[in-house]
Amino acid sequence: MTVNDVKEMTLKDLISLGDFTCSCGKVHSPGVAKVIIEKGAVNTLPALLEEIGAKKPFLLSGHDTFAAAGEVVCSVLEKSGYSYAKYVFPVSPVRPTEYTVGSALMHFDYSCDAIIGIGSGVINDTGKMLARATGMKYIIVATAPSMDGFVSGTSSMDRDGLKTSIYSTAAWGVVGDLDILCNAPMHLLRAGVGDMLAKITSLVEWKLARIIVGEDYCDVTAALVEKALGQVMSQAKKLLERDPEAVRSVMEGLVIAGIAMNYAGVSRPASGMEHYFSHIWDMRSLAFEDARFEQHGIQAGMGTLYTLMAYETFLKGNYCPDRERAMKFVEHFSLDDWNQQLLSFIGPGAEAMIEGENREHKYDAEKHKARFAVIEKNWDAILETIGTLPPASEIRTLMESIGFPTSAAVIGYDDEQVKTTFTMTKDIRDKYVGTRLFWDLGILQEIADRTFGRNS
Ligand SMILES: [Zn+2]
Ligand SMILES: [Zn+2]
Repeated sequence: MTVNDVKEMTLKDLISLGDFTCSCGKVHSPGVAKVIIEKGAVNTLPALLEEIGAKKPFLLSGHDTFAAAGEVVCSVLEKSGYSYAKYVFPVSPVRPTEYTVGSALMHFDYSCDAIIGIGSGVINDTGKMLARATGMKYIIVATAPSMDGFVSGTSSMDRDGLKTSIYSTAAWGVVGDLDILCNAPMHLLRAGVGDMLAKITSLVEWKLARIIVGEDYCDVTAALVEKALGQVMSQAKKLLERDPEAVRSVMEGLVIAGIAMNYAGVSRPASGMEHYFSHIWDMRSLAFEDARFEQHGIQAGMGTLYTLMAYETFLKGNYCPDRERAMKFVEHFSLDDWNQQLLSFIGPGAEAMIEGENREHKYDAEKHKARFAVIEKNWDAILETIGTLPPASEIRTLMESIGFPTSAAVIGYDDEQVKTTFTMTKDIRDKYVGTRLFWDLGILQEIADRTFGRNS
C-alpha cells in the first residue's frame, strides 16, 4: 500500500483490509476486527457477540455513561435473549487508577465470556485492562468520541501517581452509535476534536524524530492520520449543531488515529509534545490537592496550541545551530537541579521520569554532541518540516469557533506554570519532541520566555 492508496480508502476499507504489507516495509495490523459507526449501531451487538461465540457478556460502565447508553444496550441484549452481568462504578468521576482496575476485577462475574465497556476514556481504558486480566474479548460501546484510545492495545493509567501506558487488550469491536454519540456532552465532543488537533503537532514531531534520531517512520500511516485530521477540521463547526456527519468525522478520526498507532507500533502518529502538557497536568492533579485537571482531549488541544506557539516563536527567531552556544548550555546544565525542579512541580510522578533518564541518558554530553551534529547537517530539512505547521492563530480561531478553551487558565494554570510545563514536556517519555530540539540547540529557556512571557 502507498500514500496514494490511502487517499481513496474509507475506515471500512481499512478494517476489511486487515493486515497488509506496507510500502515502508512493515506488515501493519489494525488491531481491531469490527468498527461500526452509524445510527442504531448498538443493534449490531447481538451479531457481534455471536461472531465471537459469546453467550453472556459482562457490562462495565460508569454512572453517566450508563445513563447515556446502558439502558439501550441492556434492552438490545434482552430482546435477543442474552443474559448479562454488569458493574456500574459507584463513584464519579472514575479515575484510571489501581483502585478502579481492582474494583472492576473484584466485581467481575466469571460466568461471563466477553466484556462490553459502555463509556469512553476511563471506562474504555479500564475495560481493556479487565479484558487483559481475564483473557476475554472486549467490545466498547462508545458514549462519546472524546479520545483516540478505543482500539489501542494500551491503557492510559495513573499508576503510583504517574501517568503511564500499560499493555492491555485492544477492543475487538468498536460500536459508535451516532444516536448516542450525537447526544454526548458538548464538552466531550470538543475533547475529541482536541485529541485530533494534537495530530497536527504529533505528525510533525514524528518527522523530526526521523530526521534527528532516525526513528522509524511510515508515510502511509501519517497520510491516514492527516486525512482524518483534515476531515475533522473541515467539519468542526458543525459539531455545535451536533451534526451527525461532523460527529462521525470525529469518531472515525479517533478510531483511525488508534489504528495508526497500531500500524506504527508506537504512539508517534497521534501523540507528541502537546500530549505531555496534558500528562504533566494529570500528574500534578494526582500529586497536589489544589491542582485540577480537564478531559484528556481538552488538555491535549490546549497543549497543541501551546506547542504551535512555541514552534512559531522558534521559526520567527530565525535561529541557526550555534555550536558554541549549545555546548556552553549543556556544560552548565545541572541534572540534579533539573530533577529537583521536576519533583517540585510534578510531584512523585517525576520519580519515574528521573528513572527514565537514568536509563536513557538523553542529557549525556556526548550524546548531545552527536545529536547536534545531525541537527546541524539536517538544518534545512528541520526548518522545512516545522514550516509545514499551520499558524497558531488559525488553530486558535478554530478552537474558539467551537467554544474550546484556549488557555490552561481554565484549569488554574498561569503563564509561568504553563511555561514550566512546556520545559518539562521533554522529560515525560523517551521520545524526541520539540522541547528536546530546543534544549539541544541551547535555546529552550529563550523559546519558553519568548512564548510564554519572561518571569518578572
Ligand atoms: Zn507503513
Ligand atoms: Zn490523546
